[in-house]
Amino acid sequence: MKKILVTGAMGQIGSELVENLRENYGSSNVVGSDLWKKEEMEGPFEIVDVTDGQAIHDAAKKHNVDTIMHLAALLSAKAESAPQLAWDLNMGGLINALEAARELDLQFFTPSSIGAFGPTTPKRNTPQETIMRPTTMYGVNKVAGELLCDYYYFRYGLDTRGVRYPGLISCVTPPGGGTTDYAVEIYHEAMKYKKYTSYIAENTYMDMMYMPDALNAIIKLMEADPDKLVNRNAYNISAISAAPEDFGNAIRKHIPEFELNYNVDPVRQQIAESWPDNIDSSAAKAEWGFEAAYDIDKMTEDMLAKLRSI
Ligand code: NAD
Repeated sequence: MKKILVTGAMGQIGSELVENLRENYGSSNVVGSDLWKKEEMEGPFEIVDVTDGQAIHDAAKKHNVDTIMHLAALLSAKAESAPQLAWDLNMGGLINALEAARELDLQFFTPSSIGAFGPTTPKRNTPQETIMRPTTMYGVNKVAGELLCDYYYFRYGLDTRGVRYPGLISCVTPPGGGTTDYAVEIYHEAMKYKKYTSYIAENTYMDMMYMPDALNAIIKLMEADPDKLVNRNAYNISAISAAPEDFGNAIRKHIPEFELNYNVDPVRQQIAESWPDNIDSSAAKAEWGFEAAYDIDKMTEDMLAKLRSI
């Protein structure tokens, strides 16, 4: 029976992951944790600051968990405006969570990102193993984090696993300050105003994925046969490679009058241009059967239907 502690559980991924895990493993077996909590939230929850290693250890021990899913982090655009804070939270939080997992012998998951790649990485069909010289603090944290998780596996035999997520699109919790947030905002504004002004320029391609596929990937990877995992910590996974106009075209199939304009933010545009256009997910497919159910049209239909019902 799995019993899981999720850090950063109030975030874009965590808020949906906790619900999804509870459906799979039972409510009492999934402990959410974050710096704060919504009053109305049900189920086990601990206030845990991940920069406090003892607090992670205590929460994991108190609930007798066998797995930590570590999500607490500062995302790409926010990290660029506060690089020192990003280092302290992204690296300090990660090593604290890994240490708690090592001390208590727990399975461990944390996501890396397409932000781990940089301008010298091959941009098309980006391989699993390739040049990784990111130029953002977030990217530096993600590459170092991938290596640190590998280190805990090789040095201590800790069962660490992870994926490189693309930009994630969802409608439950707003994104936390990443470069691909436009791909969420565009749906909200299409519903409300029938128009959107993109801070990312036309013809700028990035990988994306709909949240249900992102959550399924975590469960599939964590349940995969360990003997088949060659890469373990940083599997490329992607479902969609898209530029703003691709979202515009997909939305227009449902809202024909939708208008897409551009007012490019140079900081986020520069980050976007340093990332791949599309990454190769073949290692994840071969080693643990990753597959995505949503392409841009199927996702758009579902997102707009969900937003209509909110
Ligand atoms: P988010 O910003 O939506 O949520 C992060 C959560 O961490 C927030 O609820 C915040 O309150 C919490 N947090 C911040 N500081 C904390 C601290 N000191 N202690 C405890 N909690 C703290 O982020 P997300 O989108 O859910 O991302 C989760 C993970 O997935 C991150 O590692 C991120 O890099 C990775 N990722 C996300 C995306 C995406 O598109 N959302 C893409 C690639 C990778």
